[in-house]
Amino acid sequence: MTDEVRIYEVGPRDGLQNEARPVATSAKARYVALLAAAGLREIEATSFVSPRAIPQLADADALLPTLLADPAVGGRGVRLPVLVPNLRGLRRAEEAGATALAVFTAATDAFTERNIGLTVAASLDGFRPVLERAGQLGWWRRGYVSTAFGCPYTGLVEPAPVVAVALRLVELGCEEVCFGDTIGVGVPSQVSELAGRAIEAGIPAGRIAFHFHDTRGTALANVVAGLASGIRCFDASTGGTGGCPYAPGAAGNLATEDLVYLLDGLGYRHGVDLGRLLEAARFVAGTLGRPLASKVGLAGGWDPATGRPTGRA
Ligand code: MG
Repeated sequence: MTDEVRIYEVGPRDGLQNEARPVATSAKARYVALLAAAGLREIEATSFVSPRAIPQLADADALLPTLLADPAVGGRGVRLPVLVPNLRGLRRAEEAGATALAVFTAATDAFTERNIGLTVAASLDGFRPVLERAGQLGWWRRGYVSTAFGCPYTGLVEPAPVVAVALRLVELGCEEVCFGDTIGVGVPSQVSELAGRAIEAGIPAGRIAFHFHDTRGTALANVVAGLASGIRCFDASTGGTGGCPYAPGAAGNLATEDLVYLLDGLGYRHGVDLGRLLEAARFVAGTLGRPLASKVGLAGGWDPATGRPTGRA
């Protein structure tokens, strides 16, 4: 089995959309450029949802072309998926030059109904023309299944409905499905079980990703379980941006620097330089005016040759 892991960076989209403080378009562009300089090759850039719904990402139409034109980002072939909720969003993304998208649903109706005003089935019906058109355009397509382990409205989520939604997304053309632990309640046994069931159902491990939240400190343990199940793509947010929208003040997205430290120690290849990544982490924390929300951001990396921390300011 391959020792290469894809790190799918979600800071600029999932991180910043959950931060109260607005970030200037130029600062977002700098953040993404620093992420690319650190070696990240898949960076979810923004979202073409209604600017009224998510004012933090209202500059998507300006930001994406800027990133694509940056020789250090678009010029390096960094994949810049954007979240697209419907055909209107797709048209905007197309106009802005997108070549990769993500659509977003969940395993529970209670969650999608409150989040996007649709049942899971209705959201999938709505994605059909979006994914079809994106396929005709040759775009890379990812489908998120949120509440993959637990739902804030209905409680524990069993693997069967999660896998069923993932299979629909694959049928509709998604190259990748990503299981999200939206409220950060999952534990490794659930990860192994869900990965195993999804693979058994016919979704190759190489088309499965996990999006863990560290709300209750289980994110890295869940990554280890995912790796053991053959999964080789994990989402993370540099600087630990994002918080948890369902638990004010709590951690949300797994921090990319914490993931990189773990993968380095385990001997996986991923192409990201921890020291340079910490520069991006410090930049975004400084921009948001708050301390870094990551363990490795605070402690630094570690050089086994000298015993000293690395990558600290
Ligand atoms: Mg998240």
